Amino acid sequence: MNDDTGPMELDLGRVETRSTFSFDGTFDLPTPEGGNAACAVAVNATVTRSASSYCVEARVRGSVRAECHRCLGSSELPIDTAFTFILHRGEQAPPPDGVDEEDIVSIPVQGDTMFDLYPRVREALILEIPIKLLCREDCRGVCMKCGANLNEGECGCDPGIGDPRWGALKKFLNGESKT
Ligand SMILES: [Zn+2]
Ligand SMILES: [Zn+2]
Repeated sequence: MNDDTGPMELDLGRVETRSTFSFDGTFDLPTPEGGNAACAVAVNATVTRSASSYCVEARVRGSVRAECHRCLGSSELPIDTAFTFILHRGEQAPPPDGVDEEDIVSIPVQGDTMFDLYPRVREALILEIPIKLLCREDCRGVCMKCGANLNEGECGCDPGIGDPRWGALKKFLNGESKT
């Protein structure tokens, strides 16, 4: 399991008009089912400065690895997501041209300080983790009887006979028929 990497700091003081920042990071994230997903990503952030604000456009690419929902094997999914937000000093700034206002989160900042992008990347990744992560679209899961991974071949079990739930039902039906 990877430890989360440290901060991804945007040095706002370095931005004259437009600067690009790049980071590599690993994240250990909770899945919707209470498991763990390991993400390894490359982050590219373009920061555009205007009179009273910074527009941050981030793209996050990499992969997420977690347990397959059906077979508990390892599954890996590519990640490619992007988000935009505005850091403003003083009055809230309007979004730049071509950016939809509804997609924008405005965050106040004090002066030309460092801004840690890490929590926002983490948030974006959590939204990207599917509820049911599968190792492949047609994963066959595991045999309910012997636990074999059915992706690796047939285990030879008869799925109908021997399942304790069916046994209980048969006993119940037999008992009923005797009376
Ligand atoms: Zn699977
Ligand atoms: Zn089996």
